[in-house]
Amino acid sequence: KLYNEVQDLKGNIRVYCRIRPFLPGQSRKQTTIQYIGENGELVVINPLKPGKDSHRLFKFNKVFGPASTQEEVFRDTQPLIRSVLDGYNVCIFAYGQTGSGKTYTMTGPNATSIVDWGVNYRALNDLFNISQNRHSSIAYEVGVQMVEIYNEQVRDLLCNDSFQKRLGIWNSSQPNGLAVPDASMHPVKSTSDVLELMNIGLMNRAVGATALNERSSRSHSILTVHVRGTDLETNAVLRGCLHLVDLAGSERVDRSEATGDRLREAQHINRSLSALGDVIFALAQKNPHVPYRNSKLTQVLQSSLGGQAKALMFVQLNPDVESYSETISTLKFAERVS
Ligand code: ADP
Ligand code: MG
Repeated sequence: KLYNEVQDLKGNIRVYCRIRPFLPGQSRKQTTIQYIGENGELVVINPLKPGKDSHRLFKFNKVFGPASTQEEVFRDTQPLIRSVLDGYNVCIFAYGQTGSGKTYTMTGPNATSIVDWGVNYRALNDLFNISQNRHSSIAYEVGVQMVEIYNEQVRDLLCNDSFQKRLGIWNSSQPNGLAVPDASMHPVKSTSDVLELMNIGLMNRAVGATALNERSSRSHSILTVHVRGTDLETNAVLRGCLHLVDLAGSERVDRSEATGDRLREAQHINRSLSALGDVIFALAQKNPHVPYRNSKLTQVLQSSLGGQAKALMFVQLNPDVESYSETISTLKFAERVS
């Protein structure tokens, strides 16, 4: 099949593709990216097996090439993020194999350099700026939670005692049906408050990594931003929620090599990513039954997937020829959920 229609915006799901550049110091390898169109077209090839049939065309709502900046990526994400202030629930994911740039897109390589900021810092910064300037008749309060899902266990990354604190039930429902995770909620007043909290979260995540090497690529991390706006004249309250999700690496683990903990991790990841795929697929198909209950990930995100909620998925690609088969499987995932 030469033409894969991925663009049609069924439901409220959009899919952006981002291709990371070859890294400095890395010997320049052959690329699998043959063409990036203005309107979201992407052609990938396998340079090791050239021939007519080796081209595959995919279509997204937008494709960001290797030279795209954090700022450009954010610009096309901003309207979605701002809709949180109007009471929408929004979910933004980064999906792709380990090393494809998920964390770069969501968090950025370096929090101290503002040009490098990823979507999550920029989103919070933007929400603060707007909530302070616009509509002086509405008072906004912002609260943040940060959790990690590892082997189907939810861990609060902002709780001091986070190793003891394994979270189970996620359904303290609020009046608007928003399920608030049973994780510590931290009121924030400025971007620097957020930077501080996120550093704590990242540190708590890293602590786990000493026991299990490179854990961040094998767990999902979710930063949740709750916004509550109170109209000072009528006292009417509007709530919106933004989930910023850095998913576990989607790479296939070789079943013949993985054993023990590694195999268990891989199975949990596969299961939760396919549960996510199934949920988004069901929503895109407008299927009345949406299988939220098949993983912790989809349970946690339930209130921000479906209904009036809006979702955006960044499909992250590594352009290396060695990544060709992972690239194709990532693109197939995207194709199914779009
Ligand atoms: P992942 O989180 O998917 O495992 P990372 O975000 O850690 O991948 O990216 C892997 C490496 O590539 C990191 O060194 C990161 O800084 C770099 N990288 C990823 N995307 C970009 C980009 N768009 N521009 C420059 N460097 C990038
Ligand atoms: Mg990462």
